[in-house]
Amino acid sequence: MKLRVEEIKPKKAVIKFEETQPYFVNSLRRTMLSDLPKLAIDDVIIYDNTSPLFDEIIAHRLSLLPIPTDLSLLSYRDECVCKGKGCPNCTVRYTLSKEGEGTVYSGDLQPSEKTWAITEDKIPIVRLYGDQRLILEVEAVLGKAKDHAKWQGIQAPSYKMDFSIGFDKSKLSDTKDFISKLPEGLVEIKGDKLVLKDETKLPVFESYLEREKIDFITVKRDTNNFTFYFETDGSLSAKDALYETAKILEDKYSEFAKQLKNLK
Ligand SMILES: [Zn+2]
Repeated sequence: MKLRVEEIKPKKAVIKFEETQPYFVNSLRRTMLSDLPKLAIDDVIIYDNTSPLFDEIIAHRLSLLPIPTDLSLLSYRDECVCKGKGCPNCTVRYTLSKEGEGTVYSGDLQPSEKTWAITEDKIPIVRLYGDQRLILEVEAVLGKAKDHAKWQGIQAPSYKMDFSIGFDKSKLSDTKDFISKLPEGLVEIKGDKLVLKDETKLPVFESYLEREKIDFITVKRDTNNFTFYFETDGSLSAKDALYETAKILEDKYSEFAKQLKNLK
């Protein structure tokens, strides 16, 4: 297998996998979706809420905020040395106190330690009017999306197989004629291939092929080469998310190998 980073940004990555199989790329996608840990607000203590929203709605909104997660410093609460009581190794605490006209934003949550300050600080939680008040305390803990969607730190990880579009050279004028009927700039002829300007538009192109019953243009998929895309919600950097997912997969495969060895 060959791996090439096409693009890596703090919250987004495009990775190219070559000489591999769909099941491998899919296991990476599924692990990212369900097993990758991140912090999310799990407990909310509301001391005063005279805002227009019910306590439950505010708690729900808080739970979906991206909380910056440093996995090297944290452990799961039920595996922690505190035995689930909650300590700085497994729990991050924030307080919020706001009164009077204005919007309460994610950045109004004050962390117990500066390192945990919320970076996505302009996410609105509720609008306060007149002398309305919101005073609360929250606890964020590590979790996995397979237990609750609020712990899903990766948005829509996906992959697509590489493909090429060929055409029958004896039908060049028919091909040109067909292309002229398509939205401008969708596809162009380059040598003996057709090239999509935007590769994500392949389903659109294929729907035209089907509608016009075109049999002289063929789309060939390459089942060994893939482009993998994912975005994080900001809790984890794209780089950390990828490394952590690889580590989780490695642990799963070594556990599987260990269990196999024990079979008699
Ligand atoms: Zn603890």
